[in-house]
Amino acid sequence: MIRTGRIAALFQILLLMIPLNASGAKVRVTWNPAAVHRGAVVPLRVEFPGDLYRVEAVVGGERFPLIPSPQGGQVALVGIDLDHQGDTLPVLFRLRPYGSREPRDLVAELRIREKDFTSQSLSLPTGMVDLDREKQRRVSRDSVRTKEALRARAKERYWSAGFARPAEGRVSTFFGTARVLNRVPRSPHRGVDIAAPRGSPVKSANSGVVTLVGDLFLSGRTVVVDHGWGVSTLYAHLDTITVREGQFVRRGELLGTVGSTGRATGPHLHFGAFIRGANVDPLQLIRATAGF
Ligand SMILES: [Zn+2]
Repeated sequence: MIRTGRIAALFQILLLMIPLNASGAKVRVTWNPAAVHRGAVVPLRVEFPGDLYRVEAVVGGERFPLIPSPQGGQVALVGIDLDHQGDTLPVLFRLRPYGSREPRDLVAELRIREKDFTSQSLSLPTGMVDLDREKQRRVSRDSVRTKEALRARAKERYWSAGFARPAEGRVSTFFGTARVLNRVPRSPHRGVDIAAPRGSPVKSANSGVVTLVGDLFLSGRTVVVDHGWGVSTLYAHLDTITVREGQFVRRGELLGTVGSTGRATGPHLHFGAFIRGANVDPLQLIRATAGF
């Protein structure tokens, strides 16, 4: 049974190959098409012979380097935004072979599959759901501030080990869950909620630089960490915050404690993840980087 499962999984791998030069040396790009959906983290593995000295990837106009993989080759870590429009995402690889001035381009076209996210109904005090103009203005100011922090792109990759869970506890709301607040459909859940008692430690999922420390209307006391190479994480509803903006934090270092500040029904950590601005499932970021 297990054997059949493994073989089935192997057939899920899509393969692109192009000859690199006259000698016929080939570049291989592989990924798992079953994993491609909105909110997913998709590692694309590029394997090439020694006569290639650099590979870069370009997604949505952003160019980025690949990560050497312990399993061989290099990996482009691609995030598909939860709100991605259209049913494909092209990933361009720019290959630079030795002894050739001209780069070679290879495009992997990811086909986005539909995914059924679960749905959840919540009752909140109407003052937290139906916002007056002043609160709406505050929410949009907060949103601008958060987006600004998430735009940070440290050129250095501060992380080498994989991403870790920032708090102990069970996941109470998964990423992408469709939400109905007081019977009105609202935007889907953009992170994972980890239920934990007030005061439990919240640790940075990986090393990086703190780009936001704020007290926001919806997400409460919030921290954003830029891990470099386009990966950022967000921690919301904190009770206390023990870091400041601009501070370097190591993987597992304390950021603050679990609380229920902002729009929250009880103490929990809301943990968000972003890859070059694409809002992705943080649990997938943890899984996709586990081998690093
Ligand atoms: Zn949440």
